[in-house]
Amino acid sequence: MLYGSRFGDLCHTEIIGTSTCGRELVAFHLSSDPAHGSHPRLLVTAQIHAAEYVAGYVARALLRTLLREYGSDPTVSALLRQARVTIVPLLNPDGAHLVWQHRGWVGFKGSRVTANGVDPNRNFPFVPIPGRRAWNSGSGWRWSPYYRGPQPLSEPECLALAQLCKRERFCAAVHFHSFGGVVFFPARSHPQSAPVFDVFRSVFPAAQRHCRYRPVPEPASALAGQLDLFLLHAFGTPSATVEVSRPSLALARRPLRWLHFFSWANPSNPDRWVENDVPATVCALLALLERTGGRPLPAEHPELAEQVPE
Ligand SMILES: [Zn+2]
Repeated sequence: MLYGSRFGDLCHTEIIGTSTCGRELVAFHLSSDPAHGSHPRLLVTAQIHAAEYVAGYVARALLRTLLREYGSDPTVSALLRQARVTIVPLLNPDGAHLVWQHRGWVGFKGSRVTANGVDPNRNFPFVPIPGRRAWNSGSGWRWSPYYRGPQPLSEPECLALAQLCKRERFCAAVHFHSFGGVVFFPARSHPQSAPVFDVFRSVFPAAQRHCRYRPVPEPASALAGQLDLFLLHAFGTPSATVEVSRPSLALARRPLRWLHFFSWANPSNPDRWVENDVPATVCALLALLERTGGRPLPAEHPELAEQVPE
């Protein structure tokens, strides 16, 4: 129990797996119900890409906000009374360690990949889609920054997350990345998902304090192998990618930093983006809960779930 007895009734931690290099993957489960009984499930993850530190920073700030504000903030209280929120703030600890070890000078590929050089957000099972190069947005070339790996779920980090999702059947999911200041989600690939994803056109940007992120619906061909499309089709979990922050003017003033992908992926003032995104995410999670009725949508491709071992 990382948060001690004060938060013991609200939060419990779980090691959902280990990375290739043996680092623990930690999930925090938060709910007002200590037994975590039949509450609907919501998922928040971050930093599946190695250098996207600000994404994990915002996810940990969300975790602290939920713990501290329960009982005083009405939106936080309503959320934790009605749902169990699972937060996995660091999905790619090996990649993050390499970025830290090299002070951010890891190149574009190093800013994304796992210890095995795989882009973990191209490593999920996918539905083959007809058309040239449309069957997977990842690459089969192992030197590519978008290398999808030798087979789906080859990366232990992706397997652990897929197993968690198979067990929990989340009604919705949000994944923090950086740095585009946009929200990606699958377009027109599931008949009942549009009103759910509408949260990212309305509730979420309306609650952002400094900068409203642009909603970007993407075709399935651009998303195959990615977490959003996998969760939607395998488990019926509407799933969106929130790209935290935008490159700052500070980058323009320091041209050498243009080669430093850590500087692209992370703002110099992360607390501004916590202010911008954490309250908005709390509102979005509550809206996602309401619009899904606390249940996942029907899965269009349940055979993808069968690729995930128990
Ligand atoms: Zn990313």
